[in-house]
Amino acid sequence: NCGGLGTSENEFQRLSGENSKHKQQQQSAETSQRKRKQQEPPQTPMEKYKMKYLWVTNLCSQTWCEQQMVYEFELPEFIEPEKSEAMNTGSSIHLARELEVHDLVSVATKSREDSWAVKFINVLSMIPVLQSGGRIREFPVFGELDGVLLVGVIDELSYSPKGELELRELKTRRSPTMPTSAQKRSNQFQVSLYKLLFDSMVSGSLQPDTFIHHLHLNPEQALGPDVKEHASKMGLIASNFKDMLELTCLNLTYSDLPMIDGLKIEYCYQENNSLLGCEVVCFKSELVLEQLTFHMAFWKGLRETQGVDIEEAWKCRKCTFSNICEWRTRDLDFAKGKRPK
Ligand code: SF4
Repeated sequence: NCGGLGTSENEFQRLSGENSKHKQQQQSAETSQRKRKQQEPPQTPMEKYKMKYLWVTNLCSQTWCEQQMVYEFELPEFIEPEKSEAMNTGSSIHLARELEVHDLVSVATKSREDSWAVKFINVLSMIPVLQSGGRIREFPVFGELDGVLLVGVIDELSYSPKGELELRELKTRRSPTMPTSAQKRSNQFQVSLYKLLFDSMVSGSLQPDTFIHHLHLNPEQALGPDVKEHASKMGLIASNFKDMLELTCLNLTYSDLPMIDGLKIEYCYQENNSLLGCEVVCFKSELVLEQLTFHMAFWKGLRETQGVDIEEAWKCRKCTFSNICEWRTRDLDFAKGKRPK
């Protein structure tokens, strides 16, 4: 028994020794991991959400409430079903308008390069329509602004009776009323960004390297058979992604298309598609660029997330995240001395 007990004690000591060795190893692994994390530069929001480019609409959500936009990324299950439903109805109205000017063709894509090539084919197919004075809808725009690749889709471009190029943005509303000035500001920023992107595209500022650099695409990637066929039907000869990219940049540079002269936002009631009002936006370049720099600072990790200002605390009343919002409880309540009712 004694011998047996001795063996157990030895065994116990051996196991205890191994355990404490494991614990030490684990602790040192945790310490070095912590140190490595401290040494590593913190992730920017673009890295955290794995975004290689931003949509214009991302920046517009920020103008409403940056904190809300962050919650929408991180807690999508919180988004109200009515909001998603309204977005779907809005998309259907946009689609109906798009079908008024052209048919939709479905093209099978086999790579990320293929998906971008299709966007470029859309641009290339619409340039001649604009050149001949026609109207186009759902025109893709892209370009580098403040060091970030920004992408959007212009609802409509056409010429006014005076021959000026006009952008029209359609906004569908759930209620038969015009939006608040805060909502209007966000929409004005959206169309102003579209103008910045479009103008730089037709003035030859778009460089093929910008796409390769930001999107990490392979310029030599061969286009898929469907994309190649679709391109050739449009009279475009391209075998790989680089061909399509260069063709697009060259066509835009030498298109002789004018810059956008006028910006209009049309508000429609979703229920019956009736027009609620049309707003003419005055483009103020300096103001737009200033706003852009402020928003991009967030994406580049140069500043913390911000919620609404105290004057706009009324936005929290309708916000899905108001019960969990740290900005509201920490900053707004502190500033107001009470919760927004
Ligand atoms: Fe923004 Fe207010 Fe919503 Fe917080 S509660 S996310 S501050 S709107």
